[in-house]
Amino acid sequence: MIDPMIAMLFVMEFISLMLAVILVTAWHSFGRPRHALTWGAAFGIASFAWAGQIALTGGQAGNGLLDYGVRLLSMMMWSTMLIGFRQRRGLPSLGGLPLVVGAGALAALTIAAVQGSANVTSAIALLFAAAMMAMSASTMMFRADRGPAECAVITMLLAFAMLHFTAGTLAFAPPAAGDGGLALFRGLMMLTLPSAFTGTGLFVMFLLAADLAERMGRLAALDPLTGVLNRRGFEQAAARAIANARRQGQPLTVVVADIDRFKDINDRFGHAFGDRALCRFTDHIAGAIRSGDLLGRIGGEEFGLVLVDADASIAVEAIDRIRMALGQVEIDGASMPVRITASFGVTGTCGGDDTLPEMLARADQALYRSKISGRNRVTLSAPAAPQEERREWRDSHRVESSPVASW
Ligand code: GH3
Ligand code: MG
Ligand code: MG
Repeated sequence: MIDPMIAMLFVMEFISLMLAVILVTAWHSFGRPRHALTWGAAFGIASFAWAGQIALTGGQAGNGLLDYGVRLLSMMMWSTMLIGFRQRRGLPSLGGLPLVVGAGALAALTIAAVQGSANVTSAIALLFAAAMMAMSASTMMFRADRGPAECAVITMLLAFAMLHFTAGTLAFAPPAAGDGGLALFRGLMMLTLPSAFTGTGLFVMFLLAADLAERMGRLAALDPLTGVLNRRGFEQAAARAIANARRQGQPLTVVVADIDRFKDINDRFGHAFGDRALCRFTDHIAGAIRSGDLLGRIGGEEFGLVLVDADASIAVEAIDRIRMALGQVEIDGASMPVRITASFGVTGTCGGDDTLPEMLARADQALYRSKISGRNRVTLSAPAAPQEERREWRDSHRVESSPVASW
């Protein structure tokens, strides 16, 4: 009959090998985040620690050098986990505090090993693991933007840090053999170590998947050409901004912009040049609005803006400054200097129950007025233009053959 302790150690050996493989695969498939590879390496190191532990338990008990090696590998594993957590946050791999704790623990472990005190080496390794878990949790704990996955990982790390701390403190003076306390202590170790270990592996995988989902969600909201929000992302963010402004009773303005005679630009200079003009246009606007404002590409050469905490008259002035400055922007890549102009429609709300579709419709009507009044201008929303008239512009402006006045 196989010793249950050895059986458990073999299970841990397989789990660490599997977690190492899974994490390296996740690194490869999830866009190669460096920390996934680091975490994979941590479980790779752990597999050596478990192998050493198997040897210690199965006949090598009392081998001081092996005991030292096993504790050292276990400490390397938890410090590598911490490095992964720090990399994930964009922090330098080794900070001041982890280095001090690491150097101190290494010195203490070496002294205890030289003195042949296996209890103390085990206690140091457990307390060190607790410190590394707490420091790993601290890379996420003090951030306002932590998501549910991070909260779960923080809770798990802190709970296991506490268990390791308790086990580490008890390990300094474990109850004597024959005492009922020893069985309790061994039980605590058998429960704490494998579950903390496996739990950490599962939770970091969960964290990688949650990070990936968040990155995909962010990408799905962006326009690949210009890098600003796409229609979907703009609608979601704008609806949130409108609801927020209503709650706070703050003014908010929605603007719709449309590049003038853009079809002619494509026709004269080519589609690639048109693309460059779209990027230049969004750069110009994005550089001119405030950081909390929104800019999204809601159609081919149509853009939506939300200016928060700005009433319509202030917004009209700001947008008109942007429009005038656009006249100075040269788009390079053609045989001659090319400039573009754009028309804008502006509408505001203040604490009312306007919805985004209503505001976009009003801004669109105002944009239409800018277009029929000669383009390259800003119009504040007025009572809605008759739909018939508007449809007429929508249909007719596609076939207009007048020269492009704005070049
Ligand atoms: P108006 O002043 O009335 O707005 O005239 P316009 O020519 O800008 O309007 P129209 O709707 O006739 O043309 C829009 C053009 O925008 C047609 C289309 O080829 C071009 N367009 C839409 N999306 C893209 C894009 O991603 N890249 C490029 N280069 N052109 C695009
Ligand atoms: Mg246009
Ligand atoms: Mg258009």
